[in-house]
Amino acid sequence: MANVRLVELTKNYKRGSEIIRALDGVTLDIDKGEFVAVVGRSGSGKTTMLDLLGLLLKPTAGSLFIDDVDTTKLGDRQRAKMRARRVGFVFQEYNLLSGMNVLENVMLPLRYVKNGAAGKQRAIELIDRVGLSDRIKHKPSELSGGQMQRVAIARSMVNRPSLILLDEPTGAVDTETAQQLVDLLKLLNREDQVTIVIVTHDVDIASQARRQIRLKDGKVLTDERVEEKLPVA
Ligand code: ADP
Ligand code: MG
Repeated sequence: MANVRLVELTKNYKRGSEIIRALDGVTLDIDKGEFVAVVGRSGSGKTTMLDLLGLLLKPTAGSLFIDDVDTTKLGDRQRAKMRARRVGFVFQEYNLLSGMNVLENVMLPLRYVKNGAAGKQRAIELIDRVGLSDRIKHKPSELSGGQMQRVAIARSMVNRPSLILLDEPTGAVDTETAQQLVDLLKLLNREDQVTIVIVTHDVDIASQARRQIRLKDGKVLTDERVEEKLPVA
């Protein structure tokens, strides 16, 4: 079953009298459990595509199905509900709340779903899985960039979304930390069968995804599946 289906998905922006085709009629499927990298030059439409997938933006035309629901037919409340339940977000700038500690940050999305209170155990378990059990009461200002991004990744998973969207998540950390974050994402992808879509400039990271979608001028230039690389003995 396709986890995500884009059908002629289009997003136009107006700038003065000019129309910018940020996403220009993209049709593709992403299956459950895929690990997809979205690449392309600055301005090619990567963030627009990701924000559409995450229901943060409404398309100008076309359809977007998530778990077989046509999200373009949903009202605002239902869209918000679907976003809270099905989608996890990770941004380059972490977007953690500075006044809250690690546990409180990871638990934040639980507020927007029913029975969220039952999720504390889940949050603690995720903090453990991202390797931050000993930092659970720390504030973001007491963490490194890599640690903050681990918190953001744990937070994105707390509601058990079917889809995690990451926009340049390694853009603000060094190469080694970036690789550790990618290794963590691979592990979560494998263990939880969660679909991962990562926008990245980093060719080394993109080459580790099992599928690479390259955008140019809002269109899909190439869409390639690659064999998973075996570890070098
Ligand atoms: P990328 O993430 O690949 O750098 P974006 O999706 O951010 O690309 O942008 C795609 C195109 O849409 C660019 O030409 C950009 O300038 C334009 N764009 C993005 N957001 C807006 C906006 N809110 N208003 C007008 N134009 C926008
Ligand atoms: Mg972008």
